[in-house]
Amino acid sequence: MNSEESHKNSLPNVSDQNTAVYKSQFIGLDDKPYATKCLLCSLKFVLPQNEEDLLIHLFKEHRLVIGDVWKIASLKSYIHYWGIKFEKEPLTTYCTTVLMKCTPDGKPSENETYYLLSDCISEDKAVRDEIHRARLEWVLSVQTNERTDTNFKRGCIFCRMEFSGLRITYVKHLAQKHNLYLGKPDNLVFIDELLDKIQTTIENLICIYCEKLFKDRTVLKEHMRKKLHKRINPNNKEYDKFYINNYLEPGKSWRHKQTHFKERRAEDQSSENEDEDTWSDWDDDEGVNISCLFCNYNDKNFHDILTHMKTNHDFDFKDATKGLTFYHKVKVINYVRRQIYLQHCIFCEVRINNVLEHMKEHNHFKIPAQKIWDQPEFYFPMCENDSFLYNLDTNGSSDEDSDVENVTKSVCEMST
Ligand SMILES: [Zn+2]
Ligand SMILES: [Zn+2]
Ligand SMILES: [Zn+2]
Ligand SMILES: [Zn+2]
Ligand SMILES: [Zn+2]
Repeated sequence: MNSEESHKNSLPNVSDQNTAVYKSQFIGLDDKPYATKCLLCSLKFVLPQNEEDLLIHLFKEHRLVIGDVWKIASLKSYIHYWGIKFEKEPLTTYCTTVLMKCTPDGKPSENETYYLLSDCISEDKAVRDEIHRARLEWVLSVQTNERTDTNFKRGCIFCRMEFSGLRITYVKHLAQKHNLYLGKPDNLVFIDELLDKIQTTIENLICIYCEKLFKDRTVLKEHMRKKLHKRINPNNKEYDKFYINNYLEPGKSWRHKQTHFKERRAEDQSSENEDEDTWSDWDDDEGVNISCLFCNYNDKNFHDILTHMKTNHDFDFKDATKGLTFYHKVKVINYVRRQIYLQHCIFCEVRINNVLEHMKEHNHFKIPAQKIWDQPEFYFPMCENDSFLYNLDTNGSSDEDSDVENVTKSVCEMST
């Protein structure tokens, strides 16, 4: 109780002088560690750090899967919300049930019931949207405060010049004097923490772009200057929180447009004065984008994605999954997506900031032993509408040993 209270208080983390302190009904919109109670029992998990443990616990102990977990703006807030609901109501009030032919530890068994909590139901969708909006509002309030706050004091990371006053002066100095461009000032938030992170990285003699370790400061400075590595590694997700645009619409752009498209079509059928411009907007979006299993690259053509993975990540998907059944491939994909999302190496499972760099260096773009990915929880897609899954060859190998009936299909279709 106490920790929750203090956590709530620490939430706005802005100096309380001129801006009204932002208040939200949701707890834990920030990413500070917080012991969150499981939504179905009294076990606690420190989020966001132990997100994976919580998700596995939910699956193994409660047979519950949360759809599109990665799109939830704050899992802490979400779990907290549903925890209160499930104190009074059974899972079946809000969850879709899925029948599978195995127990949570993978033993074959008939008609095992699992529960899916997803935004197929309007209350869940509303909660997700509200958490998302609340977090954006909170972040914007922090940003407003940072912009106007004149109590900022800091020495330059590079030349040790002293600054006091507005943060923007400091950010401009880094760009103009040291060619360190952090991004558009309008897009930056939690600037002090960002500067701390950059400073610590450099003090630890690590390049902020390629994240390689150097033997001393002079060599590192030379390297960053010569290789033009005076920018933030775009693949390091730990920097995402410092940019406002990452709080806007997490992964929803395609689905959003799709809904509009349907509405437009309905409107068009009912009225003649549809303006033509709106149609051309959608023409470019014909077909669904498929994302690379490892990086942000996406394309509408499955073949091009496979080629991209081969050339850029030295990963031949067809070769790596040769002989696997359709459902095994589904598990491999869901496993890889989850590992990459959590920044774990898919092969040795180590958690590391720049996981792609690690995998490249150690030649770990490889599928690990079957027992690692052949787990029932990997029947469930990491992300809804993962179009990579739709492109799998269903008649490639026999599906006789599959212990699930169209789970992925139903999970994918449920919310459309
Ligand atoms: Zn539990
Ligand atoms: Zn300087
Ligand atoms: Zn570098
Ligand atoms: Zn890629
Ligand atoms: Zn590895």
